Amino acid sequence: MTIYSGPVFDMAAKQFGVIADHLSIPLDERDRLLMPKRAITVSCPVHRDDGTTAVFEGYRVQHHLTLGPTKGGTRFAASVDLGEVAALAIWMSWKCALVGLPYGGAKGGIGVDPSSLSKRELEGLSRRYMQEMIPFVGPHTDIMAPDMGTNEQVMAWFMDTYSMYQGQTVTEIVTGKPVSAGGTLGRREATGRGVAHLAHRVMNDLEINPNRATAVIQGFGNVGSVTALELHHMGVKITAVSDHTGALHRAAGLDIQGLVEHAAAHGSLAGYSNELAFDPREILTLPCDVLVPAAVERVIDANIAGNLRCRIVAEAANGPTTPEADLVLEQRQDDVFLIPDILCNSGGVVVSYFEWIQDLQQLFWEEEEVTRREYQILDRAFDRMVARARRDEVFNRTAAMAMGVERVRNAKMTRGLFP
Ligand code: NAD
Repeated sequence: MTIYSGPVFDMAAKQFGVIADHLSIPLDERDRLLMPKRAITVSCPVHRDDGTTAVFEGYRVQHHLTLGPTKGGTRFAASVDLGEVAALAIWMSWKCALVGLPYGGAKGGIGVDPSSLSKRELEGLSRRYMQEMIPFVGPHTDIMAPDMGTNEQVMAWFMDTYSMYQGQTVTEIVTGKPVSAGGTLGRREATGRGVAHLAHRVMNDLEINPNRATAVIQGFGNVGSVTALELHHMGVKITAVSDHTGALHRAAGLDIQGLVEHAAAHGSLAGYSNELAFDPREILTLPCDVLVPAAVERVIDANIAGNLRCRIVAEAANGPTTPEADLVLEQRQDDVFLIPDILCNSGGVVVSYFEWIQDLQQLFWEEEEVTRREYQILDRAFDRMVARARRDEVFNRTAAMAMGVERVRNAKMTRGLFP
């Protein structure tokens, strides 16, 4: 019996099963590695602008505390449930371990469509959620960050609420804050920059000239838009982008700067152009060199995997590819290079780690230093993944996840089982 259910949790459990088999982890050891340490569910009541009261369900899952505090984003989306949050916390653990950060994985969220709230209601809900979480989080226990549907402003409200209860400013309780409230330079761009940096490395390895390359990006929020801008600056032509409101395609290349400005002003791509609109269901199978899923989970199924017409899949989103699709992509390794999510989007948590360190020390770095160190960590993890995949003759995802799981397992074995 478990309280975790749903397709996203099942997917994380299935992926772990593949890795556990690959590493020959004894059956009786598997639950200790997979099942979350803690899950917290809270009711968050808020005053609506019309004078009524609404209650939203909030969650936080802390996967393991073996390597240090837990770390992970907070998602505001109507689809959020405990199973999804648990899966995202588990992936976060393998990610932090893969890139060598002293964290376990966590994730949180509220089942709410943030666009249905006014700014005042969003602030009330954000503050109440953090207040409900105070007994369970802390700078050395669990540190929150942004994810889908949350941003720097929400992190500033979280930090302010926590600090009010402590009677002092505790900037290190969350990362992804505005620079004016103790955030680090380069955090907002970190995930997208990392995705573009790794895609560029693979383009080099595959002898694809960025100036003649094309990219297609699903999702145009923080991660998708920054990835688009970075690839554009490298000379790559972005031929299609999409978000929850629709998709745009232009074979000669889209005006990325214009799209970023439109999305910032209007909150989405809607209304940018009717002429360039096309069916969003077709975006993942458009021909391109680099395909970047940067929205939600489970968008690449086995059927889409068989029909991909790209050379590189750079998984900016968490869990965009189902285990069934992985089997297809494994067969297509020679023509499609996969940069798995736990490596591809890890620039976000790497720079969150830098933000936490800077807040603890009250010593702040230049942006150039933040980005240089981010790329150094990503390059090292990428090299290790490629070497491991080659050595064991396994798929890139298997290699990356095996390295993450192994590090957590080794720490658990060395520390022993209490009592
Ligand atoms: P965001 O809320 O800023 O943007 C999400 C984007 O996805 C929006 O453009 C939205 O319209 C779009 N979207 C939602 N549903 C869609 C659908 N069905 N089809 C097409 N587009 C859709 O979120 P974000 O921070 O950019 O996160 C995007 C992904 O990256 C998530 O999977 C998140 O977990 C992952 N991620 C984010 C970070 C980070 O630092 N923000 C770090 C690592 C991973």
